[in-house]
Amino acid sequence: MDATLLLALPEGMLIEEVQATETSLSLTVRATHPTSCCPLCSGVSSSIHSHYQRTLGDASCAGRQVQLRPTVRRFYCRNLICERKVFTERMPRFVEPWARMTIRLSEHLQAIGLATSGRGGMKLAVRLGIQSTRQTLLRRIMALPDLPEESVLYVGIDDFSRLVWSALRHDLGESRNASYRGSAA
Ligand SMILES: [Zn+2]
Repeated sequence: MDATLLLALPEGMLIEEVQATETSLSLTVRATHPTSCCPLCSGVSSSIHSHYQRTLGDASCAGRQVQLRPTVRRFYCRNLICERKVFTERMPRFVEPWARMTIRLSEHLQAIGLATSGRGGMKLAVRLGIQSTRQTLLRRIMALPDLPEESVLYVGIDDFSRLVWSALRHDLGESRNASYRGSAA
């Protein structure tokens, strides 16, 4: 079976090398699509400017921590009226442009943080083969958008955790603003 399917990697991503230990997997991967779209003008380009390697945390696999090392390409934008002369290829729905982890790992950390209300979340993450820090876990929860009030019909444990975190974030923002106002006065 194709390992990219097994690991649910995005279509067009090729695994070039796998380094495995008892507790971790490190995958060197690259995109195989010959072209990429400029994020500014959506123009298609096949003119490669350069390559560089990113390191991304990914969702664990059978209890092993997973690290992806994609070789990322930078393309020339050939649209003469586009302001972006060089752009980096994107992996939409898989990783944000400047993130250090995949979207699915971020979602796993958010789920752990919400289910444990942050307490013991790190122990659970380690048990599940997810490498992270307490600060990262908190940042992932704080990055969640607020729930629209009208969307809450039944409050499950995750919804309740999100509401608590939203209230906490709001209170922290208020207290920060108050201290800024106080220091400015
Ligand atoms: Zn462009």
